Amino acid sequence: MAELREIETFLQTLLQPQAFQDYGPNGLQVEGTRPLRRIVSGVTASLDFIDAAIAADADLLLVHHGLFWRGQDGRLTGWLGTRVRRLMQHGVHLFAYHLPLDAHAELGNNAQLGLRLGLVADGRFGDQGLGCIGPAGAHGTLAALADAAGTALQRVPMVLPGDGRPLRRIAWCTGGAQGFFEAAIAAGADAYVSGEVSEPQVHLARETGVAYLACGHHATERYGAPAVAAHVAAHFGLEHRFIEIGNPA
Ligand SMILES: [Zn+2]
Repeated sequence: MAELREIETFLQTLLQPQAFQDYGPNGLQVEGTRPLRRIVSGVTASLDFIDAAIAADADLLLVHHGLFWRGQDGRLTGWLGTRVRRLMQHGVHLFAYHLPLDAHAELGNNAQLGLRLGLVADGRFGDQGLGCIGPAGAHGTLAALADAAGTALQRVPMVLPGDGRPLRRIAWCTGGAQGFFEAAIAAGADAYVSGEVSEPQVHLARETGVAYLACGHHATERYGAPAVAAHVAAHFGLEHRFIEIGNPA
């Protein structure tokens, strides 16, 4: 049976968290007691996810959004206390990787979203090189890109149309990466795909002519954690399943 420290070392080597300036601790966030047979992956360590994973007899959870973030006061009270207590009562281990799981060149959220949209990155941009950019390929028009995103993610994107130019270069960054829009424009994007959008990006799209597609924070970040968890499970001979807890945001 796999040992916790072996899995931890494997994940740290795979995802290189020391290379990132992140908003929370990456790696083992809650150490459990269960022997390691079954991994359950998910986007966020919410209480619904934790309960569903425990019902599925999980030993180890692997998520993109863990429990601890910079700026929290750190007390295990209220909702955070409930989540941690639930994990510890059941002896379940929790691993969380944030930016390292966005960035991994094959298994990360950005690479996996690109795969589903038929996009291959030939460049990087933005803070810590997290953003991806590549040729538009089959998506020569905004309508084609919006259609592909809606079909792949099963969610209709919010589209800010720009100036209607043909698409030659498409940039993307999953989750709450609306702040990367200017960097995507500077990197030569004709359209930018992310999870969320905020008020200023509407004006930037109008004034620069570059289109913006907000495809959902959760929807764009659904693929990295299960890709990494499946890789770990295959290496150590463990079972793995992904549990989707729907989130409209
Ligand atoms: Zn996120």
